Amino acid sequence: MTFTTRFAPSPTGPLHLGHAYSAILAHDMAASRGGVFLLRIEDIDRSRARPEWEQQIYDDLEWLGLRWPEPVMRQSDRLPLYDQALDRLWAQGLLYPCTCNRKDIAAAASAPQEGAPLHGPDGIIYPGTCRKTRIPGQPVTRDRPRNIPLRLDIAAAARKATTSAPGTSGFQEFGADPNGESGLINFTRDELIRTVGDVVLSRRDMGTSYHLSVVLDDAEQGVTRVVRGQDLFDATRIHVLLQTLLGLPVPEYFHHRLIRDTGGKRLAKRDDARAIARFRDDGASPADIRAMVGLDQPRPVSSSAS
Ligand code: GLU
Ligand code: ZN
Repeated sequence: MTFTTRFAPSPTGPLHLGHAYSAILAHDMAASRGGVFLLRIEDIDRSRARPEWEQQIYDDLEWLGLRWPEPVMRQSDRLPLYDQALDRLWAQGLLYPCTCNRKDIAAAASAPQEGAPLHGPDGIIYPGTCRKTRIPGQPVTRDRPRNIPLRLDIAAAARKATTSAPGTSGFQEFGADPNGESGLINFTRDELIRTVGDVVLSRRDMGTSYHLSVVLDDAEQGVTRVVRGQDLFDATRIHVLLQTLLGLPVPEYFHHRLIRDTGGKRLAKRDDARAIARFRDDGASPADIRAMVGLDQPRPVSSSAS
């Protein structure tokens, strides 16, 4: 299996220094092992994705000196595949429709008997309002409803997916979790239920979700090591669960530190001041960008190197 990494930006704004760090790190990691670095455009959010931003991604990454095989995978080309995966999960009785909005969820989660609302990878952990109205393990209807958000019944899913050691799953972390831990990261079925909850796998207007698409795409592209920011560390448990349910390989993970602004805040898409294009227009070189994020140009591999 070829060592394969990827960079998977969403074309919803300019790439900034944090993206440069992630892309260069994944690129160099593959290059140093004679592997492959892939690019994927995560454009399932049609209301925010723009062709101009997609073009800017190609321009910025090329300017940084990164190269990748063509054609580039675009999530908007893969909607039928996401649909098929949802069908499979639906048929197993692991999904249910939910039209609760943020307000409903906040209200239900802070009801007196619930205690303080807990937060998971996707915000407040869903209190299960719509799950409670259905028969566990049974699809609500034979046909999957369209254009309604679908949630994963995490308890049922975790029960189905834990095959190895009783009730646990895990993945290999080659970077570090936010506490600096690496190596085999194990989590139990109960932890999943408590700390993740019933996440949305199909969003209205998208017909899929970040979690579902990322898992199917990493498998399709043969990614062996997922390199991405520590902000996604907690979501990895959802991804490992989905990989197990869908019979996909669990890749290695490398969660990297986040590049912060001088005030210590995480960079966001709207921080145009940190956009790669802005630095370039101001006369910075690709080497300057590497220096800014603390990644030196890898030295060419010489034939005499031992
Ligand atoms: N598309 C995601 C983002 O831009 C990255 C997803 C991933 O690396 O898993 O934040
Ligand atoms: Zn609901």
